[in-house]
This record gives sequence, structure tokens and C-alpha cells, in this order.
Amino acid sequence: MPGEASDTGSNTTTATINSLSMGRLNGKNAIVTGAAGGIGLETCILFAKEGAKVLMADISGPALDNAAAKLKKLVPSVIKVETRIADVSKEADIKALVDNLDAWGGVDIMFNNAGIMHADDADAIDTPEKIWDLTHDINVKGVWFGSKHAILSMRKHKKAKGSIINTASVVALVGSATPQLAYTASKGAVLAMTRELAIVHAREGFRFNALCPAPLNTPLLQDWLGDDQPKRHRREIHFPSGRFGEAIEQAQAVLFLASDESSFINGQDFVVDGGMTKAYVTPE
Ligand code: NAD
Repeated sequence: MPGEASDTGSNTTTATINSLSMGRLNGKNAIVTGAAGGIGLETCILFAKEGAKVLMADISGPALDNAAAKLKKLVPSVIKVETRIADVSKEADIKALVDNLDAWGGVDIMFNNAGIMHADDADAIDTPEKIWDLTHDINVKGVWFGSKHAILSMRKHKKAKGSIINTASVVALVGSATPQLAYTASKGAVLAMTRELAIVHAREGFRFNALCPAPLNTPLLQDWLGDDQPKRHRREIHFPSGRFGEAIEQAQAVLFLASDESSFINGQDFVVDGGMTKAYVTPE
């Protein structure tokens, strides 16, 4: 029922999603990384509902199994959904992942979404180098490898068009007062890389856009905030709407960028933040 929480933890309902389904991705093959997480799973559900075949990838096997089970329950009409364990920071994993889609006819949509924000990420003084490297390996190299192998698949299968969406963050656009330097720098790199990929591959018909989500109600952030009300309040005060975003609200934007409806949208920092980055200050 509209207004109920869905199985995925979002406040927007699956019933609502179902009623809006129009086959916007009919005939398309999609890969989603970080598919077991908040944004990834909501996106897989929408992609499946809109007629895409979906390959769900994540580093966590059990979480991936759970996510695929939820998808199949919520979208019994799904044409095809498969899962693969992959670490996006390892090129061999990404190559093997993308090669799976040869049997489906190649990649049409690649959502490079996997990312981490490590608990030990801090400011310039306190961020351990190994945390910087780990963050960049996953958040930046993962997007590069995903983009590279999506391009190779699209070329191999002579695709006239393709859509690659890379998850960045609003912190790539505005500084974060609570430091997470490695994460912020990594997401800035995603924006810059996506822009250049968009320009270089535009005449092949391959579009690249970066998604910039605001702080969300997903485990990535909420686990980190926990019950710390001051930490929570410090963020909420910046939201014009006074609330965190929901993963489904990001997924709806990803669906649009993946579909042909966004055919002339390329190289954009696609900001889905309830107006947060346009606000000077929003007092309660
Ligand atoms: P999440 O933690 O719910 O999901 C992330 C998923 O990525 C998890 O399932 C995790 O297992 C997977 N993952 C982690 N490392 C991986 C690796 N090396 N290879 C493959 N998979 C890996 O988080 P989310 O909120 O859904 O985040 C998705 C993306 O959105 C991330 O890139 C994140 O940085 C970005 N983002 C999140 C927020 C937020 O507030 N949640 C805000 C802005 C941007």
C-alpha cells in the first residue's frame, strides 16, 4: 500500500513502484555493483520492474543472496536476474562480471555504485594512508574498471548506445564539516573521471553521468551515525526538507539516467539532494 515501508527498508512502497512500471528498460541488460546495499538494491528492483535483465554484483555473498531473494519476491515478473560476487577494486573480478553478459548480448547499462566510507576515514592529519588507499581502490578504481569493461562490452556487441552511471556524492561538490577526507577526494575523482569519459565516448553513443546523492537512510551512513543525536542533528539541519534522503529516491534518478528518456543528458553531476547543495542555511 502507498505509504508503507517496503521490504528494502525504504519509505516509498514497492506497490507504488509496481504501479508506475512502464517497461522503460525493455530489452536492456544491466549490471549493478554494490547491488546488495541501499541504493544498489532499490535500483535493481526498479530496473527489473522496468523490463531490464539484471546482473547484481557485490563483495558480500550472503547479502547478495538476500538482496536477490527480495528482488524476486517483489518483482515476480523479472525477466532475468543473476548474482555474482565481485570486488570492484579487482580488475579481474570486473572483467569476469562483464564477460557474463556476453551470453545476454552485452552491456547496455552499467551502474558503478559500490563504494565505502570507512570508519577510520578522518581529516588530513588522522586519515591512515591504508584507509586512503582502500577508499580510492574501491571508490575510484572500481568506477574506472567498471567503465572500462562496460565500454569494451558495448563495443564488442556493437551497441549504438549505452548508459554508464557512476555514484559520486554531494561531498564532491561541497566540503563536509565532519571530515572524511579520503571519501570526499575519491568522490571528487568520480565526478572528474565521469565528465571526461562522457566527452571521450559521446560519439560512440555511450553516455556517462555521475549520481550525487545527499546523506541517506542507508546502512552506509546510518550505521556510522548510530544513536548519536548531535551528530545526526548536525546533518539534518542542512536539509531544506529536514530529512535524510531515501535510497529509492536515488534509484528513480538512476532509472531515468539509464533509460532512453535521458538520451541527451551526458557528463552531468546529477544531484539528488532535496536542494541541500543549493541551501545557504536552513534553520529549524
Ligand atoms: P551501502 O553500504 O548500503 O551499499 C554499498 C554496497 O557496496 C554494499 O552492499 C557493499 O557490500 C558493497 N561493496 C563495498 N565494497 C565493495 C567492493 N569492493 N566491491 C563490490 N561491492 C562492494 O551504501 P549505499 O548508501 O547504498 O551506497 C551506494 C553508493 O552511494 C556508494 O558509492 C556511496 O558512497 C554512495 N553514497 C551514499 C550516500 C549515503 O548517505 N548512503 C551518500 C552519497 C553517496
